[in-house]
Parts: sequence; C-alpha cells; structure tokens
Amino acid sequence: MSFVTHVECTVCGKAHEADRLLTVCEACGQMLAVRYDLPAVARAVTKDALRARPSGMYRFRELLPLGPDESPVTLGEGGAPLLELPRLAAHLGMRRLWGKDEGQNPTGSFKARGLGMAITKARTLGVKGLMIPSAGNAGGAAAAYGARAGVPVAVVVPRGTPEAAIAEAVLAGAHVFTVEGSIATAGRLTAQVAPRLGWFDLATLKEPYRLEGKKTMGLELAEQLDWETPDVLMYPTGGGTGLVGIWKAYAELAAMGWIQSPQPRFVAVQAEGCAPVVRAWEAKAETTAMWENPVTHAAGLRVPGPFAGRQMLRALRETGGGAQAVSEGEIVDAQKLLARVEGIWTAPEAAAALAGLIRLRTRGDVAPGDRVVMVLTGCGLKNPPPSLPPAVHLEGSPDEMLAAVRRAVGA
Ligand SMILES: *Cc1c(COP(=O)(O)O)cnc(C)c1O
Repeated sequence: MSFVTHVECTVCGKAHEADRLLTVCEACGQMLAVRYDLPAVARAVTKDALRARPSGMYRFRELLPLGPDESPVTLGEGGAPLLELPRLAAHLGMRRLWGKDEGQNPTGSFKARGLGMAITKARTLGVKGLMIPSAGNAGGAAAAYGARAGVPVAVVVPRGTPEAAIAEAVLAGAHVFTVEGSIATAGRLTAQVAPRLGWFDLATLKEPYRLEGKKTMGLELAEQLDWETPDVLMYPTGGGTGLVGIWKAYAELAAMGWIQSPQPRFVAVQAEGCAPVVRAWEAKAETTAMWENPVTHAAGLRVPGPFAGRQMLRALRETGGGAQAVSEGEIVDAQKLLARVEGIWTAPEAAAALAGLIRLRTRGDVAPGDRVVMVLTGCGLKNPPPSLPPAVHLEGSPDEMLAAVRRAVGA
C-alpha cells in the first residue's frame, strides 16, 4: 500500500490530491512536496526489516510515492557507498570524514535517483513525452530512464555543456537541443514549448516526485551511519533538490522516531562565478535573486535562479548551517586531491564540496572532531580536469625504457 496522504505546497500549505500529474502549487505557484502518514509508516516497517531488504533506493518503498502495484523504472540506482576517507581526513586534520559516492549510480550521478522516480510516476500517470532543461547530468539521466520506460525525451542544455553528457543523452535516443545562456534560459524555453507539444516539463522542483528520489540519499545516509546524524553535511548546490531532499529525509525519519540526534548542519557549496545561495545567505535574505552572467566549469552548479531558493535557505537556517563559495582553481585542486589521496575521481561539482570543507577547516568553522559527510554527487568521467600531466611515452631499448620509468617513479 501507499502511505502518501497528499501533496502539499511548501509555502502556502495548500493540499493537493496525489496520484495525478502535478507541477507547482495551484494556489500560489510555489514548490510542492509529497506528504506521508509517517506514524503509519513507523508502524509498518522496522529497522530490522529494512536491513533484510536488497540495496537500492526502492528499499525505502514506504517513504516513496509508489502505488501498491506500481513497479519502478529502474537501472539499479541508489545504494551508493558511504566511503570513510581516513587519508583525506588526516590531510585536513580531522578525525571522521566520509564521502557518499553518488558517482556510482547509473549515468554517473545522483540525478539517476530523482529522474528514476519522476519518470516512474510520469509513465504511470500517462505522459506522452518528457522535456527537461539541464546542465548535463539531469538530461543524461532523463534520457536513460526515458529509454528504459519507453517514453520519448527532449533535453535542452546550454551551449558548452560537457560533451559526454550530451553524448549520453543522444545515445539513449533523446532529442537534444542547445541554447545560448544557462539552464535558466533552457528552463524558460522548456516551460513554453513543453505544454504546446503536450509533453511534461521535468524541470527541477517544478513537479514533486524528483525530490522524493533525491530524498533517498538522506534515508540511505541515515541508515549507513546507523541512524546517527553527522555534525556537518557538505552539499554542492545548484538547483537544490539534493539539499532539500536530504533535509526532508531527516525530517521524516525524525518524525517517525527513527533518529534522535539533531539534523546535521547543512552547508551549501557553490562556485564563485555562480553563487546565488551564498549571496542570499550572506544577505540574510528569504530567497535567492537571479545571478547575472553565471560562469563555472562545474556545470551542475551553474544555476543562476534556483526555483527552490527559499527552501534551501530555510534548510541552512534551521540546521544552523551555512553557505560557502569556492573558486574554479580550488575546485580543480580539490578534484586532484581527492583522486590522489583516496582514489576517487569525482565530478567538479562534488569536488567543490571538498573545496568548501577546506575553507571551513581553514577558518575553524569545522572542528577537528566534527563528523563530516560530503555528498560526492557525480563521477568525474564526464568532465575531465584541464591540464593533467601527459603520460610518459616509452621507446628505445629496454634499458632506456627502464631508465625512463626510474626517472618517472623516482625509484
Ligand atoms: C545537478 C548536480 C548538482 C547540483 O545538484 P542540486 O541537487 O540540483 O543542487 C551537483 N553535482 C552534480 C554532479 C550534479 O549533476
């Protein structure tokens, strides 16, 4: 059975009937969120019962908007490992540090969770086609899950989006369009075109189900840390579904009585060239304002006007967290550092979370004893860092090659 009671506006509170295609609040146009009968969920499932289930995000079925006979469109998303990072922790003078390696998801990012869930609901509710504005990873994931579901997908990305993300969408049969500008331009275009095609607009938080998929990162994290919360959660923030989703997960688990400790301090990390959340946080504003001329090579962070700005700022305020901007150089350095000391080639967006942590450690805002989780939102493969040293080419006699190897490895 489903434990969904209704879908609620996060600003005016208006209740909407679930199990139909919903976009934003019908009264005030703000973001919607799915609500559950949490006491009933707590009666229906135990932590022990959960432990016996297979890994993957649908193990949390009672906290997802799946109907009784609804089978998800899945590629095996979820179940991303929470890796302890002892060598990196030592490097930063900390005791406990983890990375939740979302790069191990299908299509190489946590976007698989949200789009798997959203496309499951969209298919059940009978959409004809899906259109999505994206900075790259969301489009790739939408294309893959659309292919899996047999639903046509159109993706609109800014020109300059990482080629591998475009290739991934094209390969999965999506129609890919580029536009001048940022995801904001792509979003405006999608909002105009999709309804006239009779297709559904899957833009970030313009429908309530993507958030439920992203939420499973928080449910998993809570279980992986044995239902204790970390002290600090570093999140590389673009549209904000991950941040808001993890916050929602912890709130639901607390309401069920499954976690006792307070929520972690959420820290939103953004790039200096596109930091609307950081700017609003520093100005103590209620919501974000459009960032002019967004520039960063961390494509997923290039979101100048996030629709969920208000909810993100609330999450930061209510958890006693904060927001931090980092430079392009710091992002590249952090990406290299994580690969060198822990063997994880993470996406630039995720590397920004580490760059943010380094800033907070340097300033003393994170103490050596704080237990910190970084959400490593994607893998690095789709977006290689610039200017890596070239491989040494070996030629000549075996002795000459040996000499070259010795010089290179210093042995
Ligand atoms: C989309 C994306 C982000 C930003 O995530 P939001 O939850 O939308 O803020 C961060 N990292 C990667 C790799 C992404 O693809």
